[in-house]
Amino acid sequence: MTSEAPNVVAIAQRMVLAVDEFIAALQTLGVTITGNEMWLLESLPRELAEYVSVQVRGEHQGGTLLTVRVPTAELPRWRERLPDHIAAQYQCSRGEAVTFLAWRNHPELIPDIQCNHPGCRNTRTCSPWPFLPSDVATIIKRATSELWYCHVHAHKGLQQDGAVSDHVADILTRMQEAPGSNSTQLGITKLVGKFLELENLAIRRVTGRGVGAMYHWTIADLGAQILSKRAALQE
Ligand SMILES: [Zn+2]
Repeated sequence: MTSEAPNVVAIAQRMVLAVDEFIAALQTLGVTITGNEMWLLESLPRELAEYVSVQVRGEHQGGTLLTVRVPTAELPRWRERLPDHIAAQYQCSRGEAVTFLAWRNHPELIPDIQCNHPGCRNTRTCSPWPFLPSDVATIIKRATSELWYCHVHAHKGLQQDGAVSDHVADILTRMQEAPGSNSTQLGITKLVGKFLELENLAIRRVTGRGVGAMYHWTIADLGAQILSKRAALQE
């Protein structure tokens, strides 16, 4: 039995060729591979590079939204298989992954939220912005149904409709569940804090002084009434 020493030069040449062909093929598919993966591909024979990292980019941000590992064998079909890989690697359903992929090129799928006051043209950008693929479907649903009054019409909304914006109602709910929580715990901004006090929706108590001063909140009767009204409407 004779064993031939492997022709290292020939193998290296084949590898370089394979990597070049491979990268050219990727480019025609519109796949971007990360610097680390590029290094991996260059330092390993093609057969050993089992996965490539596909960067999913968002047009509206221009940045990488997430990185998905796609088996190299599947690259010719990577576009149709991408939702499955996203679903498996980011714990969401295939449908959510498809919605996520649609949103990254069409950010308008998450509409701006309109002030609920008739005739008002003020809008607000939906927040928080999606972080995980599974967030997109939920945020689209919320953005289309969210009740919101701009700062000009928050008072009128309360007077005429007996209603507050969803984010204010969320704060009131947390306040009711944990009376005495501070502004940070409740996510109360200066503007919202002023509104809650002026409209007698909540009562503020101050502890400490100067930079150590802290506001603690308790829901007032009117705030509690607003919440029961909302609960009754949702039933
Ligand atoms: Zn308005």
